[in-house]
Amino acid sequence: MIVFDLICAAGHTFEGWFGSSARFEQQCEEGLVACPHCGATEIIKAPMTPAVGAKGNRGLPVTRRHSEGPQRKPMVGGQEAPEVIKAMQALAKAQAKALEGSTWVGDAFAEKSRARHYGETAEASDEKPIHGRATAEDAKALLDEGIAIAPLPFPVAPPDELN
Ligand SMILES: [Zn+2]
Repeated sequence: MIVFDLICAAGHTFEGWFGSSARFEQQCEEGLVACPHCGATEIIKAPMTPAVGAKGNRGLPVTRRHSEGPQRKPMVGGQEAPEVIKAMQALAKAQAKALEGSTWVGDAFAEKSRARHYGETAEASDEKPIHGRATAEDAKALLDEGIAIAPLPFPVAPPDELN
């Protein structure tokens, strides 16, 4: 077996194991070698040929640390990024929708939530949802008291702080 560094048409690099160099050429022509990142079958060999059976080369300076590379490299520029952005946009939209008709109460959030929960307020806006700011301790205390609150996925700018 021999391992080749391969590059696909899109520039992804990966390793492939083949019985021989000729076998690689043949499998490549038949479209059997595909990029694991994008599935492209236009594959070329990278200029450098990795050492095979490197055990005897301990005295040589190490210039390549290929075997440590690919697994640790984060996926960038793949098909994931746009989907993440789309998901974030959908989430932001959902939040904006949820906040329509909700009243910003700012730092009074914990106090107001508690008052509404215990029926201590007779405000006409009681049934309307509110949103505001709360410290982590406040939020925890509210939840401990059985008051239904939920964190918002995105920070909301207070209306009076918007320019
Ligand atoms: Zn590729």
